[in-house]
Parts: sequence; C-alpha cells; structure tokens
Amino acid sequence: MAEPRVEVDQEMCIGSSNCVEVAKGAFKLNDEDKAEVDDPTAVSIEDLRKAQEQCPVAAILVEEPEESDE
Ligand code: SF4
Repeated sequence: MAEPRVEVDQEMCIGSSNCVEVAKGAFKLNDEDKAEVDDPTAVSIEDLRKAQEQCPVAAILVEEPEESDE
C-alpha cells in the first residue's frame, strides 16, 4: 500500500507537540523543538488527519495516496 505524503513546515511549526501526542510515532520533535515526520505509517490516516487538524498553526500537510491497488 502506498504511503501517505506527510510534511511539516518547519518555518511555521511552533513546537506545541500536539501532533506528537495525537499521532505517536508519526512525528517527533527535533533539537530545535520543531516537529519532523518520523514514520507516517506508524499511525492510521485518521490519526494523521487528526494531527493535521489539531496543529494550531496548520503546519502539517497530509496527502493520502491514490487508491491504485487492484
Ligand atoms: S502540532 Fe503543529 S506546531 Fe505543534 S509541533 Fe506539530 S507541527 Fe509543530
């Protein structure tokens, strides 16, 4: 199955760590307290969406893969 495309805009991120809490394993905070994508397959697409929605500065991009199997 194709992986979702997940990105964090480092300029926008304020390090609130909502995404790290909501989608454990998918995001991590780096040394500068900015979120980075860790393993987007660690959580469901729903949790990725939740993280995206709960980011206070809308720094997270989540793109679901095309349904191309079969
Ligand atoms: S929720 Fe948004 S602002 Fe907070 S750490 Fe994640 S990307 Fe950064």
